[in-house]
Amino acid sequence: MNIVPMRDAAAPKFQPYIRQTISRARQWEWLAPDLQEAVRVVSHVLPFRTNAYVMDQLIDWNNVPNDPIFRMTFPHRDMLAPDDYAQLRELVLGQGQGQAPSAALAALVQRIRLRMNPHPAGQMTHNVPRVNDAPLKGMQHKYKETVLFFPSAGQTCHAYCTFCFRWPQFVGMDDMKFDAAESQQLVHYLRLHPEVTDVLITGGDPLIMNTRALAAVIEPLLVPELAHIQNIRIGTKSVAYWPQRFVTDRDADDLLRLFEKVVASGRNLAVMGHYSHAVELRPEIAQQAVKRIVGTGATLRMQGPLIRHINEDPRSWAELWQTGVRLGAIP
Ligand code: SF4
Repeated sequence: MNIVPMRDAAAPKFQPYIRQTISRARQWEWLAPDLQEAVRVVSHVLPFRTNAYVMDQLIDWNNVPNDPIFRMTFPHRDMLAPDDYAQLRELVLGQGQGQAPSAALAALVQRIRLRMNPHPAGQMTHNVPRVNDAPLKGMQHKYKETVLFFPSAGQTCHAYCTFCFRWPQFVGMDDMKFDAAESQQLVHYLRLHPEVTDVLITGGDPLIMNTRALAAVIEPLLVPELAHIQNIRIGTKSVAYWPQRFVTDRDADDLLRLFEKVVASGRNLAVMGHYSHAVELRPEIAQQAVKRIVGTGATLRMQGPLIRHINEDPRSWAELWQTGVRLGAIP
């Protein structure tokens, strides 16, 4: 593919918002006090992160709080049990904004978090591969043919989905965090396991990493000794939350060249694009991202869970898939 550079001087810069900074966003003032309160309170337990692109392009502020992308990225009071919410509210509102959490608040947050089930079905303890009986951090070998790899630099996302069960990775609960310091362990393990054909690089979102860091994970997989690795998959929500990653980011063209390199090695590269709603594929930049990804010879698959309040309307899926297929993606 002849990669046409898309970046120009006016390329937008990624602008995240979290609890401590969300009040600087112009849309914050548009939220009713009870919705602002829910964000302030719930985000002490469950992580909150959104970004200017999501707020400017994907959320219809005339439809808040029912807007699907608002529900997907802004904490809602129903995410906590009513008693927990009430206790937390008292402590949060009782302290000044910007103050460090009191010991009582920190203890309550921890108690609530530990009662939640962040890793259903024993993901933390099951399926962790071992070499010489030592567990390999940052990896899971769940299905015979597939190894999951969680690069440590990819354990965050451009925005957080309120339904996500990976939140312990985002709030620094270290003993619950998947990570992998190096890809060396991965390569070593794969050499010992010729039955593995697929590596799924996941997170968080691995495409939060810059291209150089991602290449350090992917390029070692392309050596002849690992010819049994036929499919490299990258799980990502950046196609929806920050499509500039493929179009105007400083290293967007390098990323596409890395994709081309994988394809040229004879492997299948599948970008597992997490899309939740048709609105995510309406912006021009999101459509350009799809075209640029498939233009490298990579496959772009569209996937997403069915979530109440967000995408239970079949018309949204129909529009999403029709647009995606027209652009070359595969539902
Ligand atoms: S983008 Fe994926 S990993 Fe990140 S919060 Fe959403 S569902 Fe979770």
